[in-house]
Amino acid sequence: MTLLGPFANLRAMGMIAGLFALLVLPASANDVGESVRFKGRAVMRAEPFQPSGTGSVLFDTGASDQPAAPYDAVLLQGIMPDGGLRIEVALPSFGGLWTSWAPAEVKRFPSGRFWARYRFDGPGRLPLRLRVVDAGVKAAHLFEIFDAELFVAGTGVEAGARTGEVPPAVQPSSGTYRFVRRADWGAQPPTSDYTAHTPGRLTMHHTAGRKPATFAEAAAEMRFIQDFHINGRGWIDVGYHFVISPTGHVFEGRPEGVVGAHVLNHNTGNVGASFMGNYQPPATGEPAAEALSAFVALGRRLVSDHRIPAEKVQAHRDLGSSDCPGDTLYAKLPGLREQIAAGPRLPKGDLPVEAYLKSLPW
Ligand SMILES: [Zn+2]
Repeated sequence: MTLLGPFANLRAMGMIAGLFALLVLPASANDVGESVRFKGRAVMRAEPFQPSGTGSVLFDTGASDQPAAPYDAVLLQGIMPDGGLRIEVALPSFGGLWTSWAPAEVKRFPSGRFWARYRFDGPGRLPLRLRVVDAGVKAAHLFEIFDAELFVAGTGVEAGARTGEVPPAVQPSSGTYRFVRRADWGAQPPTSDYTAHTPGRLTMHHTAGRKPATFAEAAAEMRFIQDFHINGRGWIDVGYHFVISPTGHVFEGRPEGVVGAHVLNHNTGNVGASFMGNYQPPATGEPAAEALSAFVALGRRLVSDHRIPAEKVQAHRDLGSSDCPGDTLYAKLPGLREQIAAGPRLPKGDLPVEAYLKSLPW
């Protein structure tokens, strides 16, 4: 089997010239495992596809770099507007050849968001190769991969210990931020019981996924994220406690009183709040002002309720080897932390809400 140059096929087919854009991320942007890298870069890219005949190879990554750690699963996510694609995986074989191509399991949502996963027979550290094959493409479209991550399925998976009562999510005081309960975005129940913890830290993330433009798109993205986390990564629920949309809505993930899944080995006592979108250059775009305000309001409430010290309002990259939440968003963190620390201490029940609201400076 020959190694195709990654884009030789596309160029030869004279793809939609104006859309021939490649986005390449330099480092891991996800919340788990390790990003697959090609010549030191993560796989994020946008590829214009058109009907090319069943079986045609539309995209071939070539060999990846050698992963830093053993893995037995590869998990991709992105946008697949046309369902007529097959994603395949191969490993090096003997004599410079590759194993035969194996199809990944693909789950595609009405929004076009998809995740694709392949489980290998056992853990290993071999480079791998990915390709996308025409399996009945209907129309020209732009296919996007946001990330491809490697991990050992079954490790770091939550135990789901039974702990009895789980405190319900805390509603914000009116006028502070727009909170979207699980029932209102169509959440599935967790697949196992949560484990209780006492929050003592707030960690900022980005989803490294779609940046939705409307509330409806954000709610659809939440349903995607939950499925990606449960069925793609093997977690019991959305990993984050809160997810903030560019419209400034704060979506309820897990109750803050239970352990999340958002910073490997640093989840106990840690509340995770994630901005929808990707803020790691060369991904472009600023976080929305509405989202930043929502983070401040949410942060003030959490810091007040749980007596979290200002220095414990941090970013994922401060705790683990990740570039999450991206350089652009990370640059805002000192200012946001200051605003959170300067905010009013919210009432703990003894002050009537009306009186409290009148006391606010806005
Ligand atoms: Zn993160």
